[in-house]
Parts: sequence; structure tokens; C-alpha cells
Amino acid sequence: MNSSYDAIVIGTGQAGPSLAARLSGAGMSVAVIELGKFGGTCVNNGCIPTKTLVASAYAARLAQRAGEYGVEIGEPVRMDMKRVKARKDEVSGKSNKGVEKWMRTLANGTVYQGHARFVGKKAVSVNDDLLIADRIFINVGGRPLVPEWATVDSLPYLTNVSMMDVDFLPEHLIVIGGSYVGLEFGQMYRRFGSQVTIIEMAPRLIAREDEDVSQGVQAVLEQEGIEVRHDAECFSVSKEGSGVAVNVRCTSGSPKVLGSHLLLAVGRVPNTDDLGLEAAGIETDQRGYIVVDEQLRTSNPNAWALGDCNGKGAFTHTSYNDYEIVADNLLNNAGRKWTDRITAYALFIDPPLGRVGMTEAEVKRAGIQALVAKRPMTRVARAVEKGETQGFMKVVVDSGNKRILGASILGTSGDEAVHSLLDAMYAGLPYTAVQRGVRIHPTVSELIPTLLGDLQPLR
Ligand SMILES: Cc1cc2nc3c(=O)[nH]c(=O)nc-3n(C[C@H](O)[C@H](O)[C@H](O)COP(=O)(O)OP(=O)(O)OC[C@H]3O[C@@H](n4cnc5c(N)ncnc54)[C@H](O)[C@@H]3O)c2cc1C
Repeated sequence: MNSSYDAIVIGTGQAGPSLAARLSGAGMSVAVIELGKFGGTCVNNGCIPTKTLVASAYAARLAQRAGEYGVEIGEPVRMDMKRVKARKDEVSGKSNKGVEKWMRTLANGTVYQGHARFVGKKAVSVNDDLLIADRIFINVGGRPLVPEWATVDSLPYLTNVSMMDVDFLPEHLIVIGGSYVGLEFGQMYRRFGSQVTIIEMAPRLIAREDEDVSQGVQAVLEQEGIEVRHDAECFSVSKEGSGVAVNVRCTSGSPKVLGSHLLLAVGRVPNTDDLGLEAAGIETDQRGYIVVDEQLRTSNPNAWALGDCNGKGAFTHTSYNDYEIVADNLLNNAGRKWTDRITAYALFIDPPLGRVGMTEAEVKRAGIQALVAKRPMTRVARAVEKGETQGFMKVVVDSGNKRILGASILGTSGDEAVHSLLDAMYAGLPYTAVQRGVRIHPTVSELIPTLLGDLQPLR
């Protein structure tokens, strides 16, 4: 059947549903198309379920350390993995159902379930329906990258998606990929009781971060008994009995790692390869990301791309911000741009890493005259009191205009504390304004003014 709408939204990730609601609220008729589960990656196999699992892992860790706090649990701590999964399913399921209900009850909204494909500049097909609109919004997200070497010999492997069905304890989980997804799963399964090996091809974990941050993160993981192998070239993976064998060429350690389960966490690819983009004249880059301008318009004047599929962010908050930009520009002619965003994200291992702005290495490469200060968490009272003293906080400021250039807080509450620096960056404040504020004792944030008092020239 042919149907015309004011707008079509493809995908219900972190931008699509809010945009559909905002446009329908503005009186537009909106078609919403979803291929899989409502809510997309974050809700079903990304942020929400993984952070729920991280919370179970944190509880396990605290229970394992209970004696240090004078708490007697008595028995060795045992995991009930079925309950861990059930808790995760409940939290994630609520969100998924909430998004679905929201979309199905939208005024002026029509939901289509199926695979959307462009068949023209203003036309999209889904199942047997042809939908036409002057405005088409693409929020199709991404999926885990599965390298070719993993697809041979029906090798059993897991991704962040299939990990969602795991309700047992893998005996030995091998994680390939030492970045955000791999590290979060690696630490959580170690805390649940699995033996865990993380294999990273680069010379260090989370290689886009400063070296001291990578080292700090590795120290946290190794202290909990995770084996970290970097400088590893995985050149073959094979089935070995009921498990897997990964042959690695490393600077040290055995060339073969044997495990019961294999998790691939080697990156993500945008869901743009089967979207009929050519029919709509929508360009992609070499990696398949949809090319957009500063206002997220594609090469087709009738189409916009939001979220992970445009390659301008890989986070829930960047996707949601894409929605805010597009909606504000369309409805209020606000002229907002994604390039006004300041980099901000967290790695949710425990303790977490909160990151904003440039790294120290980026500042050096950019040749900016800067000051840097660093403070170990052992000198943060709240961390000492909580018995969580791993990590450090670091800030880099421009020595000319005194603006904050970037910060890394690897430590307890680092994901929250880093926001006070982010706010100052958005406000364009000199660091001295942050330094003079009086903060609540005892908090991690309380030490940020003190940290700023320790600035030294960056060499
Ligand atoms: C394990 C993991 C943990 C993460 N943790 C965090 C975190 O802690 N914090 C954070 O900020 N980010 C996190 N992320 C990233 C975050 O999940 C994504 O950045 C976020 O979901 C934004 O995605 P999106 O809006 O671009 O689309 P997605 O959420 O990926 O949704 C896209 C939707 O489009 C649908 N779709 C795709 N193709 C079609 C089609 N042709 N027709 C119809 N529908 C289609 C899909 O089914 C999906 O529902 C994590 C990611 C992973 C994998």
C-alpha cells in the first residue's frame, strides 16, 4: 500500500523515538519503522543491560571484599547467573516495552515493523508498503563487527548481542578487543567468577587514551586476576574440544590461549549496507557511515542521519543530542551543529573512567601551550573512606586563555565527577572559576579545585 507522511523515522534507537514524538507533537504525521526490538542497541544490548550487569558485578565484588569492611558473609560468594540475567532482562525489558508503547500510542504516528529500504529520494519500502515523505530521518545504528577470520569452521563466538542470552558462568572467557565493550564484559565476568583473558592487538588497552590511563585501567583489571595480552596479532582462532583456541603472536606469553567461550568486541559497523541508500542519493564514507553536514543533513536534501550511523558519535548521549539538533533546527530554525559538542564519555569498568575533551597526547600533538595536573585517588578522602583508591584524576588547561582542554578521571565516581569540568568547558569558564568554588566534603569532586591548584607546565 502507498502512504504519505510528513516525516518517516527509520529506526528507534536513541534519536528516532524522541524525534518522532517531537514532530508528531508539532502536528506532523509520522511513520516510525523498526526492524528489531524497540529502543535499539542501548536499550536491548548496549548501555542499559550492560550497566545493569556491571551493577551485579559490583555487588559481587563488594561481597567478595566484605571482610575488608568488617562485614561477615560467612560463605564463599556464589553467583546465581540466572537471577543476574533475569534482573538485567527486567530492567532492559521495561525500557524496551516503554519505547514500543510510546511509539504505538503517538498522536499522528503509525508504526511499521520490518526492514526499511529507500526506493527513491523521498520513498521508503517496508514489507509490502511504500511510504513517501518530504523528510526522512535515518537512525539505524550499528551492529558488532565480526571479522572474516571468526566466521570460519562454524566457530562458536559471542558478541554483545548474544551475550545478552548468557545465563551461565563461562569457565574461561576470552575477550578479543581491549576497548570499551570488551573491558566492561571482561571485568564483569571476572567478578562473576570466570577466568578471563583479554586480547588486544594494539600495544595497549583503550589505545586512544593517554598511556597513563591505559596503564591505570590495565592495573585495575590485572589486580582482579584478568590476564591482559596486548601487542597481539590474532592470526587464527579455532574450535578446540567444546571451547576455542586463539593463536596469538605476542611480545610475551604463550602463543596459544585456550578458553571455553570467545567474545568478539573488535568494533562496530553501521547498519547502512542494506538500506537502499544509492536509490536515495545518500552518500556514505569508506566505512559505510552516512556523510552529513554540521546540521546532520545528508547529500539528499530530504534526508537526515542521526546517531551511530553518521559516525559523529558512538554514544547514547551523542545520538540523543543529534535528535535535539535536528528537531531544534527544523522546528525553531535554531542553527545548531553537532560540531559544537565537546567530547565526553565514560568507560564503565569499576572504578570508572570519566573523560571529557582532549587527551594530554592530543594537546601535545596540537602544539597548545598547556598546564597539567594529576592526583592519585589515594589522595582523595572519599576514595580512601570507600576503600576504592585505584586510579587518578588528571586535567589539562590552556595556559593562555586558562580554559579547560580536557580531563580524565579514572576512579570511584569518576564518571560523575568529570561533569563539573565539562560544564565549565561548555560555559567557556577559565579554570580559576572552578578552582575558587567551594565543594561538598567528602566527595571526589571536592578535590577538583585542589587538583587545579597543582597545575604545572605540560612538557
Ligand atoms: C555493549 C555496549 C555498551 C554500550 N554502553 C554505552 C554506554 O554505557 N553509554 C553510551 O552512551 N553508549 C553506550 N553504547 C553505545 C550506544 O548503545 C549507542 O551509541 C546508542 O544505542 C545510539 O545508537 P543509535 O541511536 O544510533 O541507534 P541504535 O540504538 O543502534 O538503534 C538503531 C535501531 O534501528 C533499527 N534498524 C536498523 N536498520 C533498520 C532498517 N533498515 N529498518 C528499520 N529499522 C532498522 C535497529 O533495529 C535498531 O533498533 C554501548 C554500546 C554497546 C554495544
